[in-house]
Amino acid sequence: MKLLPALVLLSCSLVFAQTPSPAAKAKVASPVGEVVANKESKVFHKPTCKLAVKIKAENKASLASKADAAKDGYKACKICKP
Ligand SMILES: [Zn+2]
Repeated sequence: MKLLPALVLLSCSLVFAQTPSPAAKAKVASPVGEVVANKESKVFHKPTCKLAVKIKAENKASLASKADAAKDGYKACKICKP
């Protein structure tokens, strides 16, 4: 009976295939709705905006949502349109 060990092996590999790996989760970008604000220019950006990347650390503010940013007096970036 050579079939049984093969079946056990197959079911084991299926379990591994269905388990989501932590590495895959780590690749997900910033949480949805999060915006990056420039305290100096009073403009907020998507975290992926090329201008957001250039904001100096001391002028950078991370906000939970664009509604929060607007409430704090920030204006939306005209390039990335967050
Ligand atoms: Zn922008």
